[in-house]
Amino acid sequence: MTTALLADLQRLGGAPHLLVHPDELVAYGYDATMGYRGAPAAVVLAETEAQVVEGLAAAVARGVPCLARGAATSLSASAVPPDGALVIDTNRMRRITDFDAERRRAVVEPGVVTRDFRDFAAERGLFYAPDPSSEAAATIGGNVATNAGGPYAFKYGVTRDAVIGLRVVTPRHGLLSLARGADDGVIDLIIGSEGTLGIVTQVTLQLRPLPSHRTVRAASFPDGESALRVVARIMEGGITPAKLEFLDDITVESLERSRPWGFPRDAGGLLLVELDGTEAEVRAESIALDELLRSAGGGMDRVNPDRAERWWEARRGITASLAKIRPAKIGEDICVPYSQLAPTFTAVKQAADDADVVVAIFGHAADGTLHPNMLYDPTDADERERAFGLLPIVADAGLSAGGILSGEHGLGRVKQPFVDRAYDAPTLAAMRGIKRAFDPDNIMNPGAMWPTESVEAHR
Ligand SMILES: Cc1cc2nc3c(=O)[nH]c(=O)nc-3n(C[C@H](O)[C@H](O)[C@H](O)COP(=O)(O)OP(=O)(O)OC[C@H]3O[C@@H](n4cnc5c(N)ncnc54)[C@H](O)[C@@H]3O)c2cc1C
Repeated sequence: MTTALLADLQRLGGAPHLLVHPDELVAYGYDATMGYRGAPAAVVLAETEAQVVEGLAAAVARGVPCLARGAATSLSASAVPPDGALVIDTNRMRRITDFDAERRRAVVEPGVVTRDFRDFAAERGLFYAPDPSSEAAATIGGNVATNAGGPYAFKYGVTRDAVIGLRVVTPRHGLLSLARGADDGVIDLIIGSEGTLGIVTQVTLQLRPLPSHRTVRAASFPDGESALRVVARIMEGGITPAKLEFLDDITVESLERSRPWGFPRDAGGLLLVELDGTEAEVRAESIALDELLRSAGGGMDRVNPDRAERWWEARRGITASLAKIRPAKIGEDICVPYSQLAPTFTAVKQAADDADVVVAIFGHAADGTLHPNMLYDPTDADERERAFGLLPIVADAGLSAGGILSGEHGLGRVKQPFVDRAYDAPTLAAMRGIKRAFDPDNIMNPGAMWPTESVEAHR
């Protein structure tokens, strides 16, 4: 990083919001994805929109790569900085600046923690649906940038469906203030762009009423494939689950090793289903669901509310619990049509057996998302290589099943190498054009998400 850029940054207001010491920078070199690491040159801990505007303008002027950073819970290495980058961290921008009870809307800064915002809404009898399992740490800015979903995504939508306004600082056009209706096209490009088009500084979110009733079922099956076949039957049977989560036997085993949650340890495949709505809706759907689960031969359990809360907590903790099986992992995140969930599961398990790698598979089955997690011991170079070698095989399994490369984690650096498998040449060219329109010098998060040739095309 040039001395000139550091001098520019010092003028933003000086310590404590500028970090340049190597000891302080270490933590900003990685995110929640294991096996990926960068070496940033400086970090701006932005407290205001003006600091973001000036920080990005300085990076653009000096030609230094720039990475927006929230809580760094990314599982696609999208928050791993390129070497020498300027990181602009938006965690200190964590105010809810406006709330309109009548129209059920709130305006928030990007560093607001997702669960804090969901609690804020619930305390007012309202529901903010996007519930990534990382909600205790992840930020709204990061959720917008990755278009985060969660168990509620199928019934209530992903982050995109809740965003009705954005302020975003772009490399080429500076600060944009965007509202749904007038600016849908631009808003929808920014959402899910993984910090490659600009830095989000404000988000307006639409809330909805809290459902009044809910009930939870657990159903265990002899193997993962039969559980996933039942998912297709539920989805095709006219039931609209609020949550429908799938856990395979390795996932259940890892959870039970981490804490005695009380999951059926002998389950080959487990489904957790939540129904919600009015009392009458929940009653009608639970009768239909119970009948379907019984006829499908699942060991079925009505889960009382206390236990349901604990199990949802366990579900959010799966990523950490997998360390009970192997110390490290690399996670995939494919999304396929319901009818393809079972065959894709089997194909991935077969590939894992062939490669002699333990793969745990779980996911928000209602929207077709599967997270195959390749587990490995980082001290075993051979096992590590075999685990990472499964990444393209899993990506291809998803694509050949008519699915997409990412259900919710984004492409980041982990799946950027596979982008050209998913799109044809004209689409790839159009994607490069979009990136250039916002960021002609490829300053924002270079190396993440977009087709590689875009780097050359920029120069
Ligand atoms: C245990 C665990 C469970 C998870 N479960 C889910 C899940 O259920 N659903 C799901 O969708 N994801 C999940 N994730 C992935 C991750 O939590 C989400 O992608 C989340 O939205 C990232 O938010 P963050 O604040 O941590 O962003 P970061 O990880 O800091 O950044 C992610 C991306 O957003 C960009 N970014 C961050 N802030 C901004 C900003 N202000 N402006 C522009 N770009 C920005 C970064 O540059 C990067 O590209 C999980 C992760 C973990 C570790």
